[in-house]
Amino acid sequence: MGHRLIENLVYTVKDRCRVCYTCVRECPVKAIKIINGQAEVISERCIGCGNCVNVCSQGAKAYKTSVVQINNFLDQGLNAIACVAPSFPAEFYDLKNHRVLVGMLKKAGFSKVMEVSFGADLVSERLKEFLVKNPDQSYINSDCPAVVNYVEKFFPQLVDQLVPIQSPMVALARYIRKTENPDAKIIFIGPCIAKKSESDEIDDALTFEELRDLFETRNIIPTECNETEFDGPAGGHGSVYPITQGLLQTINKTENLVKNDIIVASGNNDFKEVIEELDKGEIESNLISLHCCNGCLMGPGMTGNKKRYFRRNQLSKYLNDKIECFKKDEWENNIKENRSINLDREFQADPVGITDPDEEKIKKALLKMNKTKEEDLLNCGACGYHTCREHAIAIINGLAETEMCLPYSIEVLHTSISDLNSSNKKLADMSQALKQSEKLAALGQLSAGIAHELNNPLGVITMYCNILKDEMEEDSPHLNDLQLLVEQSERCKNIVGSLLNFARKNQVRPSRTNMVSFMKRSLESVIIPENIEADIVSEMKDEILNFDNEQMMQAITNLEKNAVEAMPNGGKLSIVLAEKGMNVYINISDTGTGIAKENMDKLFTPFFTTKEPGKGTGLGLPLVYGIIKMHHGKIEIESNTDPDKEPTGTTFRITLPRQ
Ligand code: ADP
Ligand code: MG
Repeated sequence: MGHRLIENLVYTVKDRCRVCYTCVRECPVKAIKIINGQAEVISERCIGCGNCVNVCSQGAKAYKTSVVQINNFLDQGLNAIACVAPSFPAEFYDLKNHRVLVGMLKKAGFSKVMEVSFGADLVSERLKEFLVKNPDQSYINSDCPAVVNYVEKFFPQLVDQLVPIQSPMVALARYIRKTENPDAKIIFIGPCIAKKSESDEIDDALTFEELRDLFETRNIIPTECNETEFDGPAGGHGSVYPITQGLLQTINKTENLVKNDIIVASGNNDFKEVIEELDKGEIESNLISLHCCNGCLMGPGMTGNKKRYFRRNQLSKYLNDKIECFKKDEWENNIKENRSINLDREFQADPVGITDPDEEKIKKALLKMNKTKEEDLLNCGACGYHTCREHAIAIINGLAETEMCLPYSIEVLHTSISDLNSSNKKLADMSQALKQSEKLAALGQLSAGIAHELNNPLGVITMYCNILKDEMEEDSPHLNDLQLLVEQSERCKNIVGSLLNFARKNQVRPSRTNMVSFMKRSLESVIIPENIEADIVSEMKDEILNFDNEQMMQAITNLEKNAVEAMPNGGKLSIVLAEKGMNVYINISDTGTGIAKENMDKLFTPFFTTKEPGKGTGLGLPLVYGIIKMHHGKIEIESNTDPDKEPTGTTFRITLPRQ
């Protein structure tokens, strides 16, 4: 004799689960794991309390129903006896009276309809005797199957402290088999899911919810049924069992704080607390009366009005009616006659407890959720576990996932957002750079063509102007005009020259070069007025770098010229060479006027110049930009025009990769 084995008694209806963790949070034994974003019930750990079924607002937790099976029994005309739990008045308050319910069950095909309360009476008798015989030990009541499952699975060391007496349901089943019909199909009907797997001595169990389904499938309508009394023997005190303190009433006891021989607790946190304290040896009491639900009246198999005291009221009404026609002598006789029924019970330890992982592992699991310090352990409970530590242990045991931690998930989300932002920015920068190079490429083609065509006629003009100038008398009034012609055509040639440079810079011919001497040479090819001091500082260990000398010389001298031109009243031009990792940095700074903010993003646009006509071409920086890009480098600018903030000036910072 043992449990009735039911695979996956409670399970998840997957497409309804919205992964809100309510079931994880509310499951008293953490028998629900989140795997691949789905809440799954772990059968070995489940105690069948049905709390998850109660709390899931989406109807995503369900239990195995027996409606089809019972319908089969009834259709086959098997001798099926309905054993109705004493909580039925709290469920079927919509019926005129209990006789209608009995009539409906009879019409459905049950041969007999009996009250489990008689079984409860048999149990109470034994319990009274047992407690008297064992006054110095602490015992846990064993009529709540979820509590029994809990002890067997999670506190196997306490199974000997479970009252070794069968439950009212099994007591009635034994009565039926002994005195009525050993082969009857015994069907328990009550508010409890765990009852379905309590004992293989019953043939099946229905919740009240399932009974309503059964009535519907068999089209049983209350008004069409004959009112019928329960089949005997009638129950007595046992009818109050479904109320939290009911069990005590049946053995004429009350919780007495002075005597402290009774402790009562119900609800899915309290009953656990008591067992934990009992296990630690912190409490002792002759009878510890525990129920997983808040009394069977609040069982998960009930429907309709969920209010506890409303349900209690319905039960009391029924009891009052019952007392009126209670036949005390007959009842006492029945109890006496059935004293010989064996109600002994044994329990099987079935440990499934979580292994306590070592501290290192817990630390690692916490670290994964970015929890390194005491103050990181928020214990907010959003994951379904009371503490971050419990959550970490559950992760190690494969019951939970890191993503269940809300603060962690929010942090990950924030990081993703900022990553996305920075990718966005990079993308914007790149598209800007792309536009720039497209412009430069188009300009390059155009200027190459024009420059080529202009170069020859300009050469002719310059040559003939010079010849004319040489042949002219020194005091000729035209000499000055001619001089101007020579100068201006020279200028044109220069512009054409830069355009050609600009167009030609599409090939890099690198050679190993000492940066410091290269920079010295660059300064020598720029005219630096007396009032400007120029110096080179090298912080490089390895001053040799590979680059195209001719192109880089153009780039650097252009920057140096710009710097000089920005310091009409003198100042300092400094070149700093540095390196970091695989990058080399060239900083060219001046103490000049600085660049106005509004000009910053126009600097690399061809022909942008702020210099007076004839002085600037606006081709210097685009050329520099192109050359640096060809070398896979980067150019950045920092500038200040406001002398009130800090000394004015500009720094061009070039980054070149060594490879
Ligand atoms: P150009 O020198 O022919 O004007 P560039 O392309 O070399 O053309 O420079 C474009 C503009 O950038 C300059 O006209 C000037 O306004 C600004 N600029 C460049 N370098 C500096 C600098 N070091 N200090 C101040 N302004 C600068
Ligand atoms: Mg310039």
